[in-house]
Parts: sequence; structure tokens; C-alpha cells
Amino acid sequence: MGNKIVKILSAMTTSAKEIASDIMILNFTIVNACLVSNPEASTWVLVDTGLDNSESFILQTVEERFGKGSCPQCIILTHGHFDHVGSVQKLSRLWDVPVYIHELEMPYITGKRDYPVGDPTVDEGLVAKMSPTFPHTSIDISINAVALPSDGNVPGLPHWKWIHTPGHTEGHISLFREKDRVMIAGDSFCTVIQESLISVVSQSEQISGPPKYLTVDWKAAEDSVRRLRDLIPSLTIPSHGQPMKGEELTRHMDYLVSHFDEIAVPDHGRYVNQQP
Ligand SMILES: [Zn+2]
Ligand SMILES: [Zn+2]
Repeated sequence: MGNKIVKILSAMTTSAKEIASDIMILNFTIVNACLVSNPEASTWVLVDTGLDNSESFILQTVEERFGKGSCPQCIILTHGHFDHVGSVQKLSRLWDVPVYIHELEMPYITGKRDYPVGDPTVDEGLVAKMSPTFPHTSIDISINAVALPSDGNVPGLPHWKWIHTPGHTEGHISLFREKDRVMIAGDSFCTVIQESLISVVSQSEQISGPPKYLTVDWKAAEDSVRRLRDLIPSLTIPSHGQPMKGEELTRHMDYLVSHFDEIAVPDHGRYVNQQP
């Protein structure tokens, strides 16, 4: 039921917005994906794929932006959660392109391992309460799945690096472009209170940690946020919430790092106070 509500909401209010000349954000209400161009080669890459009903909007936006029949160089996944891999099976089959993900996430997109179900006890918010109904079982795109190169390079995007930011999941990654310090943060932190449906629908801006109901290692999540803060991003595109930039971003990230226990870590839940 919860998953149905999420899909209906998402289909009602999809939108696309250019945030830089080479980055377009696709917003599916509860989650974002990005079209990132490589202007030097007139090619592009899709970062994350929204929900399982997002592919028609993705294809329509691709056609408007790059022309009919345009295919990406590849698809990059920040991790394998359902709201990031939703349309990857259909799109990777249609385009027949490689799908890159961190090697620790490979089992979750090749049918080998399932994520734990969402933990509704982390928060009173409706999204947290609905989270056990979200899909958590592994998809299988073994034919197209490839582990990211270990040197940090991002296939199809020469100026970008991928950064291992575990905590939310074991093999979670963020993307960073040094020359203008633009960051695609994935779920390493959010700029919306993702556990609350009101907050998600209204997209009221507030920095928070990774989505609580699916995060499995809070110590690693904290280290990852600190690592991203230390890169001093000028603009960040989170998977959940609006992009944030400049002084506002710096201030919010500093605040999140110095108050991580209060802001990000739930008071209770399956993965709180776990000994390594
Ligand atoms: Zn996630
Ligand atoms: Zn997510």
C-alpha cells in the first residue's frame, strides 16, 4: 500500500530542471535522478533511474534534450535501493548500455542478495512507517551490471570522480567534479526530512542525514558525510530534496557534521547502537 502511494505521488508530480548547462535533475517527488552531459564528446550519462514507473518520463526528457533515439554512454547507480534502480531493468535493456555500481552493491542488482526491509521504528513520519512495504529484494541485471573502476574514474564523465560513501548502504557512492566542486550526493545525506510524507511532498528544505529507515551503519554514514563536507562542494544535488549551494550549503553541511548524532541518527531502530 505504502509503495503504491509513493508511486502515485511520484507519477503526479514529475519534473525536470536544468541546474547547470550540463546537468538536468529529474524529480520524481520522492527521489531525484540526473542526466549529466559530457559536452566535449556530445555524450551523456544517466545517474540513478527513479522508480519503476519513471522510465517514460526519463525517455521523454531524453528525447527533448538530446533528440529522438539518443542513448547514454552508460547508467551510473549511487546504490541499489528501489527508488534508484526502479527503471534500470527496462532502460538498460532498451539502450543496451553498461550499468555501473560499486562492487559491494553488485549482489543487490545481480539477484544474489536482498536489502533488509525498511525499519518503521526509526521515526514517527509516514514515509518511515510505510517503509516496510517498499521493495527490498534484489533485481537481476547481471547482463549489464559492471563494477565501477577502482581508480575513482566515472565511465562516460571524464571530469568526475566517484567517492565511496558507505553507511546508508555498504557500497554507496557519491559523484564529485573537482573543477567546479559540484557534487551528486546520492543518499549520503538529504536536504529534506525524508521520513515525513508532508516534508517530502512539500519539499521543505532542511538538511538531514541519509534516509533513516534504510540506513545500516551510522558510524560509516557519519564518516561519509564528513568526507563530503571536507571536499567543500559549491553545489550539491541530493537524491532526496532540493539542490543546495554556496554559503547555505557550507553552513548546512557544517551543522550536519557537528550535530550528526542529534540530526541524523534515530533515537531507536534496528541499526542504532550496534557494535561493529
Ligand atoms: Zn537509499
Ligand atoms: Zn533513496
